[in-house]
Amino acid sequence: MKRVYNFSAGPATLPEEVLKEAADEMLDFQGTGMSVMEMSHRSKAFDKIIKDAEQDLRDLMGIPDNYKVLFLQGGAHLQFAMVPMNFMKNGVADYIVTGNWAKRAWKEASKFGKANCVASSEDRNFSYIPDCSDLPIDDDADYVYICQNNTIYGTQFHTLPNTKGKTLVADVSSCFLSEPVEVEKYGMLYGGVQKNIGPAGVVIAIIREDLITEDVYPNTPTMLQYKTHADKESLYNTPPAYGIYICGKVFKWLKKMGGLSAIKERNEKKASLLYDFLDGSSLFKGTAEKDSRSYMNVDFVTGDKELDAEFVKEAEAAGLAGLKGHRSVGGMRASIYNAMSVEGVEALVKFMKEFEKRHS
Ligand code: PMP
Repeated sequence: MKRVYNFSAGPATLPEEVLKEAADEMLDFQGTGMSVMEMSHRSKAFDKIIKDAEQDLRDLMGIPDNYKVLFLQGGAHLQFAMVPMNFMKNGVADYIVTGNWAKRAWKEASKFGKANCVASSEDRNFSYIPDCSDLPIDDDADYVYICQNNTIYGTQFHTLPNTKGKTLVADVSSCFLSEPVEVEKYGMLYGGVQKNIGPAGVVIAIIREDLITEDVYPNTPTMLQYKTHADKESLYNTPPAYGIYICGKVFKWLKKMGGLSAIKERNEKKASLLYDFLDGSSLFKGTAEKDSRSYMNVDFVTGDKELDAEFVKEAEAAGLAGLKGHRSVGGMRASIYNAMSVEGVEALVKFMKEFEKRHS
């Protein structure tokens, strides 16, 4: 068996010890004589799995009691619709468009009401986070929406926008649990787990209780109402049980690693290794503007498309996988989520140095 360093943007690398534990429990989960994949979601064993997962997440993030934790399906994309269907009570929302995913969310919201774009960084191909200290927030806005870490462009909000008292909703898919978070500052935060937490198929939404009501967009299907899932503690229908079980293991792994402050320190160290090298490189150049740089996705180019392709190919052969940039940016992207080790990033920087030497 040979595992590579996997820099894929998602689905992405997971902690090896979590995978090994899951492998050990595959045929017989803790004496039940069956895999978690095969067990009823109404069983005692699964009840403990989902309750422990929720509690561990609450402990890690310090989630206040007046917030619900929901395990949902449909990917982050379904939240692009569920957010406006559930929260646009006045029929108005403000969107900050800092990339492709925020743009999709904004477009989707316009199907349900007036969705304003109050700031955008599209003018420079989403390479930065705009100043959000004094935006033209609509008096009637039900919420202000951001995508906190822009996976494709390698940018991240390091300061939350001034929403002028309006509810903040954030897509945190690609920075979930990467650093401590003040949950109270958000009305809702959500993310697909397939980057920092677990396998594709689970979305975790953390929502302040007073926002979860029956007053939703007309004819919103039962499954698309947060209240449906909140009232039944994510067990209204069959949840993505195996995925939740893996998420639970990752939460325990994070606790063992020292929690979110410790993981933040490690993430900053990894990001600095890469950005410091890029800043001094004669061949590679980071594409995100410095003060907007993401700690999770590091985008870079050589300036020569053929050389970029050669780099990706050679890196892959050297056991450094998933470095091809998103098709809308090109070049390279190293996703260095929680489960990527410092050694993995060091191996990448070493390879980049050698490649640079050969091409200077
Ligand atoms: N939001 C962010 C920040 C993402 O990185 C992605 C994608 N990978 C999405 C939303 C869309 O996620 P999904 O494919 O789960 O719908």
